[in-house]
Amino acid sequence: MPFSKLGLPPSLVNGVKAMGYTDPTPIQLRAIPVVLGGGDLIGSAQTGTGKTAAFALPTLARLGKHEARGPRVLILEPTRELAAQVETAFRDFGRFTDIRATVVHGGVGYGRQRSEIQAGTDVVIATPGRLMDFLQEGTLRLDGLKILILDEVDRMLDMGFVKDVKKIIGKCPRERQTLFFSATVPPEIEEVARFALRNPARVEIGVSRTVNKSVTHAFYPVNMGLKFDLLVALLEKTDFHSCLIFSRTKHGADKIARKLKAANHSVAVLHANRSQSQRVEALEGFKSGKYEVMVATDIAARGIDVAGVSHVINYDIPANPEDYVHRIGRTGRAAAIGDAFTLTTPDQAGDIKAIERFIGQKVPQLQLEGFNYHAQPRPAMGFQGAAPAHGQHGQRPQHGGRGGGGGAGHPPRHQQRPQHSGQGHAPRPAPSGQPAPQGQGHGGFGGGGQQQPVPRKFGGLSRGRWNRR
Ligand code: AMP
Repeated sequence: MPFSKLGLPPSLVNGVKAMGYTDPTPIQLRAIPVVLGGGDLIGSAQTGTGKTAAFALPTLARLGKHEARGPRVLILEPTRELAAQVETAFRDFGRFTDIRATVVHGGVGYGRQRSEIQAGTDVVIATPGRLMDFLQEGTLRLDGLKILILDEVDRMLDMGFVKDVKKIIGKCPRERQTLFFSATVPPEIEEVARFALRNPARVEIGVSRTVNKSVTHAFYPVNMGLKFDLLVALLEKTDFHSCLIFSRTKHGADKIARKLKAANHSVAVLHANRSQSQRVEALEGFKSGKYEVMVATDIAARGIDVAGVSHVINYDIPANPEDYVHRIGRTGRAAAIGDAFTLTTPDQAGDIKAIERFIGQKVPQLQLEGFNYHAQPRPAMGFQGAAPAHGQHGQRPQHGGRGGGGGAGHPPRHQQRPQHSGQGHAPRPAPSGQPAPQGQGHGGFGGGGQQQPVPRKFGGLSRGRWNRR
């Protein structure tokens, strides 16, 4: 459907054309009619989906002509950059109208923003802090407001703006239209939505955020210098059938593969620098069981369908949350049971938060029992310079081939399952040489961090725990 059929006035259709857009994006198709009709809206969509036009176009349409008496639209943004971008979009789309838009954010002087507000503007696009300043000094009043737009609410709350946002909502007239955009809408954001909106329509656009229920997944915090050692220890103590390991970079994938081979694993590598025949060989070998481990980058792994991957290990936490869902989706397919571990380093709290927000659930942070988290860290990349860390675990690794049968060069595995201790959401170091702390909340794969041997296979105990969550 073209823009001209969405009920927008010709001036805006021309504005859109001047931007070079031909067809509306899915969120525009679905949100524009709701907003034009005057309804409240919760849009779950990320930057890049065309959400700015999805709210800017119908908002401009509802404003019609410029009025000098004060802002009729307020848009709250978490950052100056976003506020500036949205102001530019309003000016671009509204180029054939006389609507005025003003950006209000910190980091610059008050003078110009104050005089634009005083001259009479229709749309204010603001970050919460500077807006509060103008409200307090009385330069800006919101009594004439018709439309309130809260954009990137999840980021706004992450940045600690919740109090300011609620105060600002409280200063808006009760009779208004409210639009609410957030990449995800977890419970704390639902609460703000309930407070701010009335009978909102919901439009959800984007990639899957659902982690397959048959997959148990957990984060394993570790210092950078011990990452490779932890990877080896996880493989050593996990009764995996076939394991897909993700690296952020091609170079990293090669390095991990080299070191795993040195640690007696049969390893395939899949990334964009490999030739077509190498890729086919890697995939076929992984599917047939010739390779028990495949190290891959995200791009290479997109779309690959390998039945029966029992484990996914994110050696590097994915660069964006969609990739987390995508990677984890490689295991536990078609109702098979799978496990997914993500190694995280102390600087990745933001990535962890983004993933949890995206999938709308907390992911337990676990420690691998028996792993020496206090070992001397190795330099730089985690696995760099690390001789495979077997000595440290006091025994040589034993790796079986597929099906635990013990292929050539792969002696049988340990007769014990790994023991992982859960720690809810507060990572804490495992005391060296001592059992990791008793798990709480989410529990761990190893029966809540207890020390007695548990059956080899994943399943039973730990999975039962997860299912009860
Ligand atoms: P946004 O999600 O609003 O940040 O938009 C992402 C990018 O898509 C921006 O560069 C927009 O200019 C562009 N865009 C938005 N809507 C359309 C459309 N209907 N056709 C082509 N590009 C678009």
